[in-house]
Amino acid sequence: MITTSVCIIGAGPGGATAALQLDRLGIPCVIVDKAVFPRDKVCGDGLSGKVITGLEKIDKGIAERLRQFVEKENSWGVTFVSPGRQSMDVPYRPNYSKTTDAPIGFVCKRIHFDNFMVDELKRCENIRLFEGVSIDKYVQEEDGYLVSDAAGTLVVKAQLLIVANGAHSSFTREVAGIRMEPKYYAAGIRAYYKGVKGMHADSFIELHFLKNLLPGYLWIFPLPDGEANVGMDMLSDAVRDRKINLKTLLTDTLKQDPIFAERFRDAEMTSSLDGYGLPLGSKKRQLSGNRYMLVGDAAFLIDPFTGEGIGNAVYTGTIAAKQAATCLSANDFSAGTLAAYDESVYRVLGPELKLSYKLQQLVKYPKLFNWLMKMGMKNKQLRDVISSMFYEVDLRKKLTRPSFYFKLLFNR
Ligand SMILES: Cc1cc2nc3c(=O)[nH]c(=O)nc-3n(C[C@H](O)[C@H](O)[C@H](O)COP(=O)(O)OP(=O)(O)OC[C@H]3O[C@@H](n4cnc5c(N)ncnc54)[C@H](O)[C@@H]3O)c2cc1C
Repeated sequence: MITTSVCIIGAGPGGATAALQLDRLGIPCVIVDKAVFPRDKVCGDGLSGKVITGLEKIDKGIAERLRQFVEKENSWGVTFVSPGRQSMDVPYRPNYSKTTDAPIGFVCKRIHFDNFMVDELKRCENIRLFEGVSIDKYVQEEDGYLVSDAAGTLVVKAQLLIVANGAHSSFTREVAGIRMEPKYYAAGIRAYYKGVKGMHADSFIELHFLKNLLPGYLWIFPLPDGEANVGMDMLSDAVRDRKINLKTLLTDTLKQDPIFAERFRDAEMTSSLDGYGLPLGSKKRQLSGNRYMLVGDAAFLIDPFTGEGIGNAVYTGTIAAKQAATCLSANDFSAGTLAAYDESVYRVLGPELKLSYKLQQLVKYPKLFNWLMKMGMKNKQLRDVISSMFYEVDLRKKLTRPSFYFKLLFNR
């Protein structure tokens, strides 16, 4: 049996970040993943500015190594396409310069990005990483949690658990009592393609809000070597109620829609077409309890509008590690003390998630969406504000006030 102060379950972006933050705080930990890295994870592979900013706060060296990482594509913005097929380019920074500004958005296949993070873990003496072990048993004892795989080959006794084992976490379901609710959950699929025409010269990611997918969208994200990550997501209740087969819908749309048909005419699918769940942060949930904290997808924190979850996994991983440090120094792992983790997470992510949920509700109406896009296309100030949102956190706060939109749209 291995004893440790903190055991992290899952070495995806959330768990790996928690381990790195603990290491930098001088706290040893054990981290266990059922996969052996490099491993794939179904995802759009879009890394927003939150990821690099989050890593930079832990250690500038990690952020710098990610900037130098060759397996990723630097992306300078987003192209939004409305149901009426009007498109609006929104750079991550207004008036960016590719020569003088550091890129803040990336697209990187998860097989590479997650392995980059695991390589960072392997550099740290404080971190003991176990790969290829699925943690399936959790027993709470008076002085800690006893966790192990089904066969009991690896048994870890920890004072505190950081649970970061993703969207299908049994701990989340069985211990934390958080259930999948189809209206607050999305289904997503993706495949890799080569030879898609009409990609943006500065590798903007594309979000196509097609009428039949709302509030979900079809995405095309540029990757190195002329590849692209192409996928679709949709709310799980819509998939169920409309009896939709997302895989057929994606391949049919790429063939039958005149715009995509032209762009994909000579394109080739270079992977299988795979799906996975997106636990959305559309409502507030309890993220901690006696001796545990949930992180990333295990905490249901994916942005309900953008589908982005890696940034929030990195953010919660960091906060969980800092909370672990506080608990260890006070030798207090009670649910009451750990509630401070929920407070820290929701203080920052709460307003964003609320706003995104409101936007998700708004974009269900194609006419309203088309109108907003028309306003955006005419209004440079609005486009600049959306740009600034990507790197100025304070602006996001303003976005929760209705008066802000009113002024922006009508004071031109
Ligand atoms: C189709 C799709 C597209 C998406 N596109 C984007 C995007 O473009 N940008 C973005 O930011 N987000 C995107 N997301 C969301 C993003 O993939 C997740 O939010 C992100 O992976 C969360 O990281 P995590 O570390 O919490 O969980 P994960 O990345 O799921 O990692 C969990 C880890 O836990 C391990 N594990 C699972 N069970 C056990 C166990 N029992 N024992 C030990 N280990 C275990 C797994 O092997 C895995 O390594 C998308 C999701 C989907 C489904």
